[in-house]
Amino acid sequence: KKEANTDTLTGLYNRRVFETIYNQFVADKSNDDDITLIMMDVDKFKVFNDTHGHLVGDQILKVIGQLLKKECKAPILPVRFGGEEFGLLCPSLKIKQAKIVAEDIRVKLASVPFTSKRTGERIPPVTASFGVAQKRPNDGLTNIIERADQALYAAKNAGRNQVKLAAN
Ligand code: GH3
Ligand code: MG
Ligand code: MG
Repeated sequence: KKEANTDTLTGLYNRRVFETIYNQFVADKSNDDDITLIMMDVDKFKVFNDTHGHLVGDQILKVIGQLLKKECKAPILPVRFGGEEFGLLCPSLKIKQAKIVAEDIRVKLASVPFTSKRTGERIPPVTASFGVAQKRPNDGLTNIIERADQALYAAKNAGRNQVKLAAN
């Protein structure tokens, strides 16, 4: 069961767990309905792989997993969505609170240089872009993911290494 729920590279939970926790939270009427999603995507990661090699790329994804585990205090749930994309589910958080979380992680990631395990060379920090969306009353999971994705896309277009919020 642990294997089915965990991403082997980063040790984070996967999208399956994310969906389960989301559905449980929304179904539980004793919760207020505030729930926010942060989508995070590593910037220019294809170029990174081409420059440093896929193994070093994997190493960076692992470090990002460790950073997310450290920075995401309960009830925030970080998962690897797939590829170089991560989702941070923020139950009981409003978009303004989640924005602070995203901004904090953005700044921390952008300040951590790496040492290549392959060559020992110093590699400058990688950055990520973030899109944040809060659930609207009639939003299903697909809607909120779509809106967070659109905000993420806006962050990419605005120059990357930034956080954008979806309108409510
Ligand atoms: P953007 O800033 O627009 O997101 O650019 P990008 O290059 O990050 O985006 P694109 O979707 O073009 O490329 C994603 C890259 O992420 C390509 C793929 O090789 C890399 N990637 C995805 N999963 C993994 C992985 O598990 N390990 C490694 N090393 N690279 C991965
Ligand atoms: Mg991507
Ligand atoms: Mg990317």
